Amino acid sequence: MKIETLLIHGGIDGDEHTGAVSVPIYQTSTYKQATIGEHKGYEYSRTGNPTRDALEKLIAELEGGYAGFAFSSGMAAMTAVLTLFKSGDKVLISSNMYGGTFRVLDKVFTSFDIKYEIVDTNDEQELLKSISKDVRAIIIETPTNPLMDITDIEKVSQIAKEHNLITIVDNTFMTPYLQKPLGLGVDIVVHSATKYLGGHSDLVAGLVVVNSEELSKKIHFIQNATGGILGPFDSWLLIRGIKTLSVRLDRHIENAQSLAEYLGKSAAVAKLYYPGLPDHPGNELHKRQAKGPGAMISFVLEEGYDICRFLRELKYITVGESLGGVESLLTHPATMTHGAIPFELRQKMGIVDRLVRLSVGIENKDDLISDIQSALDKARL
Ligand SMILES: *Cc1c(COP(=O)(O)O)cnc(C)c1O
Repeated sequence: MKIETLLIHGGIDGDEHTGAVSVPIYQTSTYKQATIGEHKGYEYSRTGNPTRDALEKLIAELEGGYAGFAFSSGMAAMTAVLTLFKSGDKVLISSNMYGGTFRVLDKVFTSFDIKYEIVDTNDEQELLKSISKDVRAIIIETPTNPLMDITDIEKVSQIAKEHNLITIVDNTFMTPYLQKPLGLGVDIVVHSATKYLGGHSDLVAGLVVVNSEELSKKIHFIQNATGGILGPFDSWLLIRGIKTLSVRLDRHIENAQSLAEYLGKSAAVAKLYYPGLPDHPGNELHKRQAKGPGAMISFVLEEGYDICRFLRELKYITVGESLGGVESLLTHPATMTHGAIPFELRQKMGIVDRLVRLSVGIENKDDLISDIQSALDKARL
């Protein structure tokens, strides 16, 4: 089955008992047992729920993995994966990854003596040098959030394998429609399904997909033991969102490509980050490992523009956190998504105060361009 079909018919398609084409929402906490130990496969909804099951099977098929797991948020999913590690272990992470992933490592897992180190995962020598005896995993995002750095997934997972480490990819920006890390040797994929997979800014959810029975048993144990599960209604809502992923992303990308070309020519833009542009340093590599550039664009405003005024003057483009919804969203990483990263470190990473990140929606692209144009005109000092 091709992915466009799998998005609609993958996992558990409809309801075999009634013929309903939409998976039922099993809004139940528990299940009747005939007698001791005799049940129909479900005992308690933290452990398993049929609606969540349908979603978990769907994401596993979409990513080409062994099993999938649904959590109440992307951070709950990432946290569940990080609890695979023990005190004394260390993980290597890409520079400028999602601020929340940095925060949970920096402020929560360090108290349990699980350490992290930021490395340029695209610099093979630096990566090799950072692999000390206590390193257990490499966590990457590609493209990174918000600076769109591209990492060679296949190369990193190969290096990881040679050193007995697991590779974890946060695939939120790409989704399996554009990029399938497990096929490139990765062990675990994590998603904030709040973003493109849900796609309508009406849901917070996280997903994990693993490549082996061994990891599947571990993550299932952690999911049930720690309990950060996705509820039945949100599981259903996410299945519903996933059905239209291919048409949404095709339009997201078409719009983003036009906006990036427009911004590239604008005198107001000092620096532009979009992997779909030929002069982006990761353009060739990204094309090899992903089917499309996605629809996230970051840019630095020139000095002669008032950034607060620019944000205030936008009409259709909503200023706020998050990304991946049908509506265009503009974020100020230094104070919003990446506010948890200390100022000096942010500067070093390139997350400067004049940087904005645009999640290009599926509105009419000419409307989006004129919205930006008129806000820039008004923000000129
Ligand atoms: C939003 C986001 C997360 C966190 O997900 P939540 O659903 O907000 O908890 C993790 N990684 C990336 C890349 C994100 O954009």
